[in-house]
This record gives sequence, structure tokens and C-alpha cells, in this order.
Amino acid sequence: HLPTAELQRIDAAHHMHPFTGGAELAAKGTRVITRADGVMLTDSDGHEILDMMAGLWCVNIGYGRDELADAASRQMRELPYYNTFFQTSHVPVIALSQKLAELAPEPFNNTFFAASGSEANDTNIRLVRQYWAALGKPSKKVIISRTNAYHGSSMGSGSLGGMAHMHAQGGLPIENIVHIDQPHWWAEGAEMSPEEFGLLRARQLEQEIDALGEENVAAFIAEPIQGAGGVIIPPETYWPEIQRICDAREILLIADEVILGFGRTGKWFGSEYYGIRPDIMTIAKGLSSGYAPIGGSLVSDHVAEVIGRSDFNHGYTYSGHPVSCAVALENLRIIEEENLLGHVNDHAAPALAKAIESFADHPLIGEARSLGMLGALQFTPDKSRRVPFKAPKGTIGQIAREACFRNNIVMRHVGDRMIVSPPLILTEEHCEIFKERAGKALGETYATAKA
Ligand code: PLP
Repeated sequence: HLPTAELQRIDAAHHMHPFTGGAELAAKGTRVITRADGVMLTDSDGHEILDMMAGLWCVNIGYGRDELADAASRQMRELPYYNTFFQTSHVPVIALSQKLAELAPEPFNNTFFAASGSEANDTNIRLVRQYWAALGKPSKKVIISRTNAYHGSSMGSGSLGGMAHMHAQGGLPIENIVHIDQPHWWAEGAEMSPEEFGLLRARQLEQEIDALGEENVAAFIAEPIQGAGGVIIPPETYWPEIQRICDAREILLIADEVILGFGRTGKWFGSEYYGIRPDIMTIAKGLSSGYAPIGGSLVSDHVAEVIGRSDFNHGYTYSGHPVSCAVALENLRIIEEENLLGHVNDHAAPALAKAIESFADHPLIGEARSLGMLGALQFTPDKSRRVPFKAPKGTIGQIAREACFRNNIVMRHVGDRMIVSPPLILTEEHCEIFKERAGKALGETYATAKA
């Protein structure tokens, strides 16, 4: 390939990157990734980089699995494309629908496919409104979500999300989407115990339903653990209380499993980890381990039955793309046959937890926490109190992320939190590399923060 500097120049000149300013790209250049294997990336200068983010939280089985490339190649030769509109179907989508019905808890026996998590959440907006309309309750339109949630980048899913900077840019949210507060105890729990705070935040859902009128509310949507919002692991009281409210009130519960689905908590779905019973689950990312774009809405029988009685005027050219379905099937086979969930529970998650906790005493770190294959380090200027850094918000995180990159490790920063979401195949050896490289990066960050 071309020399790195030339690749960077062309990239900055012609490629508009997601969530990145063009001026920043031109000034700092991009890291051009050329190959990957297991948990390691290789860049255009031959550096080996430990990928603690599994790409964008998606490469669950790790990089470099020929079986998925073979499945894609076979499918491309046999039937590269066909749709499932107008009474047609094809073998890979049929097989994947059956497999998902087998893996998902009851009563999830139905999938509506999309090409991404954003599209799947757009589908969900229509699904829940259509559900209530079909039951003769068309006023039930409002979807309640949470601040700092991330549900995608389209106008619909970006509205479901609760990211202020995304709303400001797009004139969002669209009508009939409202947000309650996230359960972020460390930053917002003041002097309360996590348990009290979890209940307080969950009960906002009940208050919001009352304020809006139950006859106007269609659904509540949430990630069981907020991912892009900063890996916000909710207090233990939160989800049982949300479930109680959803049971007591006539609203649907949508669990966005785009990050958690397919093993990240050590269960197939994060909802199973928390013992919650959603009506719809959003899936993407780990469904194909990112090897091919695919997403979908897993729909419970009682919702699918109502939708099936009506005309659901919705679908994408790439709903159930045969190549993506073939790749996803192969990916799920590997997760199952190689017992990756067992590996997470017995080895990878405990090793990651130990590695994350090893940073708890660092002078910059206020909270070091993980659950399954998700973890976060919270920066604080004062370890004795739960306080974030003062404005400009995220500066310390940005410094740390760049220090990570210099030390050949990928971690992501969300404001003043550094987060990890590595491939499920992580080993103790990877965790040793993580501790060493992240430790150096944090040391450099501390030196910059003090200066
Ligand atoms: N939902 C959650 C929880 C996500 O984390 C993401 C992406 O990060 C999405 C939805 C959107 O998925 P996609 O980027 O595939 O559209």
C-alpha cells in the first residue's frame, strides 16, 4: 500500500469520518489499520495494537476467522443478494431466524432484520406504534428513553438516544420521544447509596408515564448497561424496579442489546443477565462479530402476533441480506461450539475485572469497574470525593485516549471515562499487555494533567 503519510493525506482530503472533526484529522492524521488477528490490530507502519474495544464493541469472536470469510465467499457465489419482500425468502435468512429463536429466551421467536443497530431501532419505533394502533390505541405513541443513551445515528434512533450534542446538530428529538435521567450513581448519586439512587432513577419512569398519561405512552427503551454513554453499570435495584413498573403499566419494554447481545455479559443477552423480560430486543454488532453489517429486532410472540394482524409497511433493501445472514450463522456457530460464553464467565471476565481493578489506586482514577466484558475507568481530580474534572469536559479523556494510541492500545474515552469492550476471546496474557500499556498511558496522562 501507499506510505502512511500519503494514506493520511488522502484520507483527510476525501474521507469524511464519523464523529471526528476534519480539522482534527488534518492536524493529527489517522491511524491506518491494515490487518488484524485475534485481539491485535496492525497499522500501516507495522505496529501491533491491542484492541480493547473489539472495533466498535462488535468483534466478539476476534479478528481473522477464516470460517466467516469462507461463509461469505460461499454465499456470494451461490446467492449474493435477494430480498425478503413480497412473499420471497432465502435459505440463510430462514436458517438465521430459526437459530435466533433457538438462542433467545422465550417468547422471542421472531426477527425483523436490518443492516445496523440504527435501522433496527428505527424499526422499533414503528413496531411499538403499530402494535398499539393495531390494538385500537393509536394515541400510545410516546417512547421514553434516557439521557446519554446511544441507540444509533439515524434521525429516529438518534432521537431515541439521549446525546445532547447529537440532538443539537440534527434538530432532534423527533416528536413523541422523551428522556428521563440515566442511572449514573458515581457522577449523579450525591450522598445517596447506589441502591437508593437506583430506585430513585427507576421511579422517574413511573413519574414520566403519569405526567404524559399512560394512554399516550407506547414504550420504554434502554440499554441494560449504557455503553457509548460511558459503560454506566446501573445499581442493582434499578432493573428490578423498571421491570416492576413495566409490569404494572401498559407499556412495552425495548431492551437495546446491540452491545450486550451475543455474550458480552457472559449470557447470550444482557436482559438475561439482569433477569428482565423485554417485549423487543435490538440486536446488531456481535450478531456477526462485525464481519458483515447486520442488525434486527427480536420480537416476542405476543407483539409479533399483533403486528402480523396488520400491514407493517416497513423494510430495507438489506433486511436479511443473505451474505450477512450466512456470516452471522457461522459466527453464532463459533460462539456456541467454542463455548465462548463459558470462556467469558470462567476466564476472560475475571481476568478483565482484575486488570481493571488494578487501576483503582491510580491517583487519577475515581472508579474502576467492569461487568462481563465491559469496563470503565473514571477520572477524577480528587480521589476522596466523587467529582469529575472541571470544563472543558472530556479533555482529560481525550489526552488519555491519545496516550493509549501512542502506547499501542485502543481504549475509548467518553467524557472523563476510559472504557473497554474487548473481544470475548481475551486471555490473561492480553490482560497483562493491557495493564502494561494502559498503565504507561495513564502515567503520561497524569504527567500532562499535573503540568
Ligand atoms: N444501540 C446501541 C446500544 C449501540 O451501541 C449502537 C452503536 O454503537 C447502536 C444502537 C447503533 O448501531 P449501528 O451503529 O450499527 O447503527
